[in-house]
Parts: sequence; C-alpha cells; structure tokens
Amino acid sequence: GTHVIAIDGPAGTGKSTVSRILADRVGAHFLDTGAMYRAATLAVLNAGVALDDTDSIGAVVTRADIGLNVLAGSSTTLLDGVDVSAEIRTDVVTDAVSAVSAVPSVRTKLVAVQRRAAQGSFVVVEGRDIGTVVFPDADLKVFLTATPEARAARRHQQNVAAGRPSDLAEVLNGVNRRDHLDSTRAVSPLRPADDAVIVDTSDLTRDQVVETLGALVRD
Ligand code: C5P
Repeated sequence: GTHVIAIDGPAGTGKSTVSRILADRVGAHFLDTGAMYRAATLAVLNAGVALDDTDSIGAVVTRADIGLNVLAGSSTTLLDGVDVSAEIRTDVVTDAVSAVSAVPSVRTKLVAVQRRAAQGSFVVVEGRDIGTVVFPDADLKVFLTATPEARAARRHQQNVAAGRPSDLAEVLNGVNRRDHLDSTRAVSPLRPADDAVIVDTSDLTRDQVVETLGALVRD
C-alpha cells in the first residue's frame, strides 16, 4: 500500500535537505511539492499572465505538464518535458509563487498529481499542506519550524552557495512576506496538522534534525 511521511513547514527550516536525506535513509521516494508549485508559477510567468488574473492562471496551470521525479536522490523538475530545476529557484519565481499557489484550481490539480505520484509507494512528501490536505492519513506527520532569522540565514547561505545574488535583509523580508501569504490564504493555509510532531530547527544542525526525524520514523 501507500506509506507517507509528511513533512510540512515554512521556507528555510531545512525542510528540503532533511526530507531528501531522510528519504534516502529509510529507502523511500522523495516528493518535493514546492518544486511543483514553482514549476506551475514558471508556466504562468512564461505565458505572460498577470498574477491577479486567477482564471488565466488556472487555465495555464491546468494545461501545463508538470513532471516530478520521485526517485531517491534525484531532484529533477520538468515543465512540458523541459528540465526547469534551476529556473524554478530564481527570485522571479520565488516572488510569484505564493500568488499562484493561492489559486484553488492550481491546488486541485497539483494535489491530484501528488496523490497519483505517491500511489503504492513509500514516500517522504515535503510541502505546506501535506499532513492537513494531501495525505491526512499519513503514517507520520512532522511540522518543522524555526525563527524567521534562522530561516532567512539558511536561505541566504543557500543562495550564496548556489552563486545567486543575495542580501540577508531582503531575504528576511521575502521569507516573512511569503509566510504571511502562505498562512493567511483561503485555501490550504500553512499550519500544522493536529497530529503533527512539531520540531523547532532553529538551534539544530542538519544532522540533528535528520536524527530527530529518523527516531520518529523508527517509533
Ligand atoms: O518549499 P518551497 O519554498 O519550494 O515552496 C514554494 C512555495 O510553494 C511556497 O511558498 C508555497 O506558496 C507553495 N507551496 C504550497 N503548497 C505546498 C508546497 C509549496 O502552497 N505543498
């Protein structure tokens, strides 16, 4: 059957990195749902659609073919057959993603794709609404948190490591803005599931977070 470990939380909690390592360790596939919302956003931007035109956003995303690579260790995102893994990490996409992911028809489509992708597998699924909406019956639900400062510092370091221009104060503004939009939207707002284990990663190293999650999986 389908076995799901749901890992939710805001940006910059180390969620992607630890989810990936955890999936590897426990022999599960890894599903990065944020990458899908980013690919949907890229489709919208490429189509030249205004970010307040929800009908057109819905139409563009409904037509788009968003491919997920669920294989362990792989992180390829495809939009209409093209590898967009690098392009979806740019600021232009990051700044627009909350608007696109707030559109109900976008979520309906991507949630269906996510459920189909997990069908019959053991998966670690990372996102914002995995434990609350996508897989409410997940075997384990984790909600990662951290202070805005700790999260901005992590994002900034990732940018620098990837050679992207980055300003810490701007990153902090962006983190706060995106969290606000994600947690106040009408559909599937970012919040922990009632039965989620909350892990504050502010003062934990990546390895400590992986250890903590690994222990939860073994329980
Ligand atoms: O995790 P990542 O930062 O790549 O997610 C990008 C954006 O995608 C989030 O800010 C949020 O707006 C949206 N998202 C979502 N639901 C998910 C995953 C991501 O709305 N399950």
